[in-house]
Amino acid sequence: MALMTAQEYIESLRKLKTRVYMFGEEIENWVDHPMIRPSINCVAMTYALAQDPQYADLMTVKSSLTGHTVNRFTHLHQSTEDLINKVKMQRLLGQKTASCFQRCVGMDAFNAVFSSTYEIDEKYGTHYHENFKNFITMVQDNDLTVDGAMTDPKGDRSKAPSAQADPDMYVHVVERREDGIVVCGAKCHQTGSINSHWHIFMPTISMGEADKDWAVSFACPTDAEGMYMIYGRQSCDTRKLEEGASIDVGNAKFGGQEALVVLDHVFIPNEYIFLNGEYEFAGMIVERFAGYHRQSYGGCKVGVGDVVIGATALAAEYNGVEKASAVKDKLIEMTHLNETLYCCGIACSSQGFKTKAGNYQIDLLLANVCKQNVTRFPYEIVRLAEDVAGGLMVTMPSQKDFESDTVVGRNGETIGDICNKFFAAREGVSTEDRQRVMRFLENMCLGAAAVGYRTESMHGAGSPQAQRIMIARQGNIQGKKQLAKDIAGIQ
Ligand code: SF4
Ligand code: FE
Repeated sequence: MALMTAQEYIESLRKLKTRVYMFGEEIENWVDHPMIRPSINCVAMTYALAQDPQYADLMTVKSSLTGHTVNRFTHLHQSTEDLINKVKMQRLLGQKTASCFQRCVGMDAFNAVFSSTYEIDEKYGTHYHENFKNFITMVQDNDLTVDGAMTDPKGDRSKAPSAQADPDMYVHVVERREDGIVVCGAKCHQTGSINSHWHIFMPTISMGEADKDWAVSFACPTDAEGMYMIYGRQSCDTRKLEEGASIDVGNAKFGGQEALVVLDHVFIPNEYIFLNGEYEFAGMIVERFAGYHRQSYGGCKVGVGDVVIGATALAAEYNGVEKASAVKDKLIEMTHLNETLYCCGIACSSQGFKTKAGNYQIDLLLANVCKQNVTRFPYEIVRLAEDVAGGLMVTMPSQKDFESDTVVGRNGETIGDICNKFFAAREGVSTEDRQRVMRFLENMCLGAAAVGYRTESMHGAGSPQAQRIMIARQGNIQGKKQLAKDIAGIQ
């Protein structure tokens, strides 16, 4: 099958019987729901750009399995060049949406599970790799979006999955049948879950022998029986429900999406199982998936950062301060921080290596350094954006005030006249454009989009401490001590 167009992707979601709940109720037409639609538009962009000849080289690639042209979001990376192109593609998508475009979690899961299943089969003679190859071929051929679901609720963090008071705190097998398994549990803050055709579930931590029933990985359709999602709300999200508030929303076209995904006795046929009890491989899947997703942030957040920097420069221009040396210097600092993240994304890609299964893995130490920086730099970038933009980005009256014809002045001035008079931009710039850029920055820095640019930068792909553990493991302090000893003449 050919690549899907953006419209075909959106229509394909309507055919699914995905169960979505929000504000305590089931949402029937979730595809057109004003709070959900921007996140669908975002994923649709991964399809639209693949159709654009200008981006074909970046967005599409020959499948290593079938030789067919596939969307890079479904690709198994075959070289360091592929890894670099992945980061470039993510930066492009970030630039085009200023949001989390969600489809990367599946891509990162594909590559982690592909290489891990090969090594599980090598040890146990299982057939997980074959299962996975069949699954990914179907995904590529049908140009599907797949959610990579990793983060379990975790309950009491001091206890292993098998030691939890409630066994559902980690996804687990509740029944083993001849033809498959039955699973229960949930995954938290799942990016793009509702917008995906399928899900790949993976363990979220390393496991011991007692955790065998929790060491499970599998794929299932998003509308599988027993599966449903409860939509995660975002700061200022209900602005999207207001009439005539598209400017107040900030980024009315695009947005991210997270949900709680619940598995209530979902049956998984054997052919979609990729791990089932081989507990010592849980950590491998986690480490590889996290590594890829930490690389991803060196692309997507950089692209979003590009838009934030651009908006900040516009705000300065509209305020008439763009020539001030302090403003120029702040824009330089923002650029420096943003490009440093990109350097990390490119570096961990260029130092990638071939796995036993044949696909390419990023350099783990550099990917973790990348993500550790992402937990900091976007915060500094938005601090500078707020500094340059000024307080108006959070104090401006509503779009309805700017458009109001209610008379308030002695000479018949309306609320709209007054707002337009006192919030006027420099000469030659409309008040509306100033309003738009301020609201956009509000949205990015502390509104709904801040989920994707700030808190996701902190906790997405693993919280900062998770990277520090990996940096500690990969940092080779012993080797560095030896370097010092050799030069200092210490025996
Ligand atoms: Fe992709 Fe970035 Fe969103 Fe992860 S946070 S799914 S890498 S856009
Ligand atoms: Fe993420």
